Amino acid sequence: MGCVMRREFWLSAAEADQLAARQETPFLVASVDRVEENYRFLRRHLPHAGVYYAIKANPEPAVLRRMAALGTHFDVASAGEMEMLAREGVTGDRMIYANTVKDFRGLRMARNIGLHRMTFDAVSEIGKMADYVPGADVLVRICVKNNKALVDLNTKFGAAPEDALPLLRQARDAGLHPVGICFHVGSQSLSAAAYGEALLLARALFDQAEREGLHLTDLDIGGGFPVPDAEGLSVDVAGMLEAIDRQIARLFPDLAVWCEPGRFIPGTAANLLTTVIGVRQLPSGTRMVTLDDGLYGALSGILFDHWQYPMRFLSERGGKNQVLTTLVGPSCDGIDVVARDILAPELMVGDHVLFGNIGAYASVSETRFNGFSMAPTLIWEEQEEARQMADEPAIQKKQYR
Ligand SMILES: *Cc1c(COP(=O)(O)O)cnc(C)c1O
Repeated sequence: MGCVMRREFWLSAAEADQLAARQETPFLVASVDRVEENYRFLRRHLPHAGVYYAIKANPEPAVLRRMAALGTHFDVASAGEMEMLAREGVTGDRMIYANTVKDFRGLRMARNIGLHRMTFDAVSEIGKMADYVPGADVLVRICVKNNKALVDLNTKFGAAPEDALPLLRQARDAGLHPVGICFHVGSQSLSAAAYGEALLLARALFDQAEREGLHLTDLDIGGGFPVPDAEGLSVDVAGMLEAIDRQIARLFPDLAVWCEPGRFIPGTAANLLTTVIGVRQLPSGTRMVTLDDGLYGALSGILFDHWQYPMRFLSERGGKNQVLTTLVGPSCDGIDVVARDILAPELMVGDHVLFGNIGAYASVSETRFNGFSMAPTLIWEEQEEARQMADEPAIQKKQYR
């Protein structure tokens, strides 16, 4: 199934202007229709796996509501995430508590909302789970290898495969209900190979469990599915998902199989609109341009998520004259550099810079450092006016030389 690229969400210059005329930048604009399209894309190419959306990637209420309406299940890691879902009417039986080390507030909340499915990777977790949610369905998380992921999750998480069955038996002895095995190959994984290896490893463990009289029913292959076009990388995501799906169908016809996509669902669904608030010509010849958001704000993913977002310069002067530009954020910290020595039109104070593919792991790690307020998220489908008026004449923007 060739290289199917999903269209990214991009505001037009006119739409960005319309929004900025009514809401001060910086702000994010997320499209819940695009979120839905991404979800449907995943279901289409990975039909053998049910979905737990890992809400840490983007827990905007409108995103949760759309996903809930689509009938998905959810991956949560804390009491706070359970509360966010409960507020949208999602019940505990549609959640998996997929944090291998759970705090007591989270365990209490899990019990209160009827969440009874959890993952773990160590003995110290068994007594806690059994105490708070007796009889809970538990999956043991195993450690898998993957050097082709942007974010490695297997140095911090996952039991050695040889410890998996002893852990499940101990869980059973403590009154829990061992149901299966889970793993996470790492975030923004760029090949199906890591999933393939992990699936083979899991199959061997399921077979061994069966031989030893431990009947397991569930496999959870975690998240890690890549957002295409990051840093110009073109991954054949459809092909990758289909390769994983074929292997699931072949190896696990007998099991309930789940996945936990985070990044994939909202990744391409949002833009960040910023405004140039300062310009300075450096002796080196580089133009230093200060934006009203940066690494301590919605662009925190550059730091935490090792991400570079595609940019569009909505410059009045157009893109004819490209100059060497370093983009920085508004904070008083030298680390707050958004992009160094790139080519951009000669930006002026008042120009807008738009960032794309910023729907996952971005707004969630914003801080209030230096007293800057956090960029709110507008839902595109709720911005009727801007959508309709985008065809009208351009709004006169204030500019300073
Ligand atoms: C973060 C996380 C996910 C989502 O990962 P993505 O790489 O964003 O798809 C899924 N499962 C668990 C347990 C996680 O911690």
